[in-house]
Amino acid sequence: MTGTTRALRLACVTAAVYLTVLAYTSALHRAHGHAAALCCTAFLLLTAARRETLAARDRRAAAVRAERAARARAYADDRPYAAEYARGWLDLHASCCLTGWHTGGTDHDLVHCTRKDHSR
Ligand SMILES: [Zn+2]
Repeated sequence: MTGTTRALRLACVTAAVYLTVLAYTSALHRAHGHAAALCCTAFLLLTAARRETLAARDRRAAAVRAERAARARAYADDRPYAAEYARGWLDLHASCCLTGWHTGGTDHDLVHCTRKDHSR
């Protein structure tokens, strides 16, 4: 729920409470028609606040669905490369060090290599 939605909802509820107080005061002064009109207006404001809350909830749910769909598409796009990723990880784990993996063993620094046995 955004700040604008909260502010609008708070304004509607505050106005509805104020109109209810005015309706009560009008009823005390025997202006029953005026009191009924104020009550109806307060009810409309409360209905608007409720609708704004539900609309915000719907917007959030739609945003979550769109985000999930985008993530699912991104994951589906990676699937054709899964075999290549797996082969790359196997090559990396099979190599003796990062330099050895990176250069394919052609430019290998034996001084900094972490593998102890350089005979293979
Ligand atoms: Zn190495």
